[in-house]
Amino acid sequence: MKRIGVLTSGGDTPGMNSAIRAVLKTGIAMGMQVMGVYHGYKGLIEGRVDYLSHEKVENKMHKGGTILRTARSEVFKTEEGINKAISVLRAYGIEGLIVIGGDGSFRGCMELVKRGVPTIGIPGTIDNDMGYTDFTIGFDTAVNNVMNEIYKIRDTMRAHDRVGVIEVMGRNCGDIALWAGVGGAADLILVPERPMSWEDAANRLAQNKLRGKYTSIVMIAEGAGKAEDFAEYVRQHTDVEIKATVLGYIQRGGNPSAFDRVLASRLGQRAVELLAENDYGKAVGIRRNKIYEVPLDEAVGMRDRFDNKLYDLNTVMAQF
Ligand code: ADP
Repeated sequence: MKRIGVLTSGGDTPGMNSAIRAVLKTGIAMGMQVMGVYHGYKGLIEGRVDYLSHEKVENKMHKGGTILRTARSEVFKTEEGINKAISVLRAYGIEGLIVIGGDGSFRGCMELVKRGVPTIGIPGTIDNDMGYTDFTIGFDTAVNNVMNEIYKIRDTMRAHDRVGVIEVMGRNCGDIALWAGVGGAADLILVPERPMSWEDAANRLAQNKLRGKYTSIVMIAEGAGKAEDFAEYVRQHTDVEIKATVLGYIQRGGNPSAFDRVLASRLGQRAVELLAENDYGKAVGIRRNKIYEVPLDEAVGMRDRFDNKLYDLNTVMAQF
């Protein structure tokens, strides 16, 4: 392959720039030209394509977001849209495409592969909701972002003997709540994978208060409900004073962690190698610290494997 393209799609994540850099540098090392497609599939349809160069990726590795920008595109899901995208790839002589994104973006990859476009998916989502890979790019940074906020919220909750409930992202996946909760010593973690009635959760907080533990931190994954709804339930059914915080987009911003930069670099390299080997239609991932690949259709079909042992560990630690 002489010319390949790379795009970022769906939600942005810290670390995407490291993956773009690795794709560019590996591609050049293999004698390829690397084109950047701006604004995801939307930009592809609109022909927003340009050469990537060392200058464009230089000093960007430590920055969050994505230098290629990202977008969502409903048009890409139509026959007309995808045909337009493929004609743009042909017009630019792009023989293979690397897509950095989440589950939806990978479904887009599959549609391209079906139509004969060599495509590789790199997992980029803070949610960590892709079961075929232990980690997705951006998850570790998001967890660290959340963990650092937990300590700030705990300071002020403690000053008032209050409970703080913190809502975090993750769509239907509780991994951010779980990891940040364990790292931030949360007292209770509410996630969709381990359903707990709000009655039980509120009772735990009331019991904590009875035994003299006035300040608790509750993590709630967005897939398990809204922090404010839970806080209102607790107010109505107990005498616990509780305040809700929704962390929102700060979770997704900021400098990527070392882990995300290294992971993204390794995945970017493997993606280019696969295109060079003509072994496309794959999603690259990490399992037991080894970079590996699976067919895209297996990757999108695989549910996240929740770490029940880690959840139970937190429950034990929160008891005492
Ligand atoms: P993420 O990749 O983060 O999961 P989305 O689910 O929003 O984000 O998907 C990103 C883009 O991928 C969508 O805007 C759309 O263009 C494309 N996409 C999603 N699902 C499909 C699908 N079933 N077929 C074709 N393209 C899809």
